[in-house]
Amino acid sequence: MVQIRLTNSKTRRKEDFHPIDAGDVRMYLCGPTVYDRAHLGNARPVIVFDILNRLLRHVYGADAVTYIRNFTDVDDKINATAQARRQAGAQGSLEELIRQRTDETIGWYHQDMDALGALRPAIRGQVGDKAEPRATEYIPQMVAMIQDLVARGHAYAAQGHVLFDVRSYAEYGALSGRSVDDMIAGARVEVAPFKRDPMDFVLWKPSPDDLPGWDSPWGRGRPGWHIECSAMSQELLGASFDIHGGGIDLQFPHHENEIAQSCCANPHDDFARFWLHNEMLQVEGRKMSKSLGNFFTVRDLLDRGVPGEVIRFVFLQTHYRKPMDWTERKATDAETILRRWRGLVAGIEPAPSPAPAVLAALADDLNTAGAIAALHELAGQGDGPALLASARLMGLLSDELGGWIAAGPDLAPLARRMEALRLDARASKDFAAVDALKSALLDAGVEVRMSAAGIELVPGPDFDESKLPQ
Ligand SMILES: [Zn+2]
Repeated sequence: MVQIRLTNSKTRRKEDFHPIDAGDVRMYLCGPTVYDRAHLGNARPVIVFDILNRLLRHVYGADAVTYIRNFTDVDDKINATAQARRQAGAQGSLEELIRQRTDETIGWYHQDMDALGALRPAIRGQVGDKAEPRATEYIPQMVAMIQDLVARGHAYAAQGHVLFDVRSYAEYGALSGRSVDDMIAGARVEVAPFKRDPMDFVLWKPSPDDLPGWDSPWGRGRPGWHIECSAMSQELLGASFDIHGGGIDLQFPHHENEIAQSCCANPHDDFARFWLHNEMLQVEGRKMSKSLGNFFTVRDLLDRGVPGEVIRFVFLQTHYRKPMDWTERKATDAETILRRWRGLVAGIEPAPSPAPAVLAALADDLNTAGAIAALHELAGQGDGPALLASARLMGLLSDELGGWIAAGPDLAPLARRMEALRLDARASKDFAAVDALKSALLDAGVEVRMSAAGIELVPGPDFDESKLPQ
């Protein structure tokens, strides 16, 4: 069996991964708050942990892996979008409008992440709602966990709130490597009169009558964000499980707080043994932000005609622990590579297993860049079956993601005509016919790429099939 090694944020070391139960390897990933389309940065953890999920399924068996990813469906931003819709004249109660919004957003999320080739979360291979829990369906478990924390002296109720007492947990700060005093000095903490310590965080808070709320021993209210993940992971994976993932931006305070809650509620369990964090995404060398005008969603890219497979490939070229830069240039290059590879494997059956070099790279802390280098080697050797089997381990070259090739116009006859003209021109030293065809193609929005390997015609953003030369 291949030995997987992963960098554990908890120990800050690369360690051999041994599951608690090889018959049910259990992983939790913090999912989205469902109020709007996923932006490109949101896709990074999904793709990173999809690779890990696929690797675990390959090594242990698809029905021996449980992968849970939640939806946070109670949040001020969700309430705000529903309130805005009602003010704009939408029919229905606020509750109904909230449900419409969260259902709609979950639908978009599925569409967009499916388009990137990410497998849906699954419980021992079974896809379903339970593998993608909605926070609002686990309120009783959250209330029970909060009650338990109060009973154990780790939380206290004050003015309708329940707060976690960070000074009651000596390990608080261990994951992010800072002490409570450093946090107070370095962070903009919310000071509230009912907090014993400025770093104490909310487990439960009151909810006004016109917003979603649930009855609890502390009055009508709603859970804090952090308790959602602690309660849902415990319910679905147990108090000790194998891997917890998320973006590095969640390490503090979200993951620190999850650890505090879960480890104080279950002092004899481990909570998550491995913590994995992916680095952030930039666009053309700059932080993606609305103010810089370089903010876009996964759907924006797909609608612009960038295939999901191309987006996935670009993401996989960067190791998950390094900041990743999305550039148009990378997308264009990825498209060229994938077109070539898809040509190479057309009509070919995959080898029975992926190439050892690809598997070894992925098992070495998800070295996707190294795995892609190995794929290039297989392509260079013309080994279509091995290329196909290995690429599919990474969710590439699947039939599901191949639609963009088939849907594109068949430019192969024109490429062959141009190739023939080019050969003639080399002999006659008269390039007029080649140049004429090339400029006609450019007018139709087709990019002409000439290399020693041949001519490749790629429809660009301005492609107009009706202008193609006959
Ligand atoms: Zn979480």
